[in-house]
Amino acid sequence: MAVPQRRISKTQKRKRRTHFKLHAPAMAVCPNCGELTLSHQVCKSCGFYKGKLVVEPKPEKEAAE
Ligand SMILES: [Zn+2]
Repeated sequence: MAVPQRRISKTQKRKRRTHFKLHAPAMAVCPNCGELTLSHQVCKSCGFYKGKLVVEPKPEKEAAE
């Protein structure tokens, strides 16, 4: 098994990890309903993609449950 030749110092490790970040998802405005949706994916609120109904939208959840 490959073994590191020498231990990575705390500073080197931390410097490398400065690039490990979460990024915000790419959002786009749905041209059908105007909701913010994930781009290149079916709109969650109206079920449209590329101007066509792809998935039937789920009915709104009842607040009193
Ligand atoms: Zn939509």
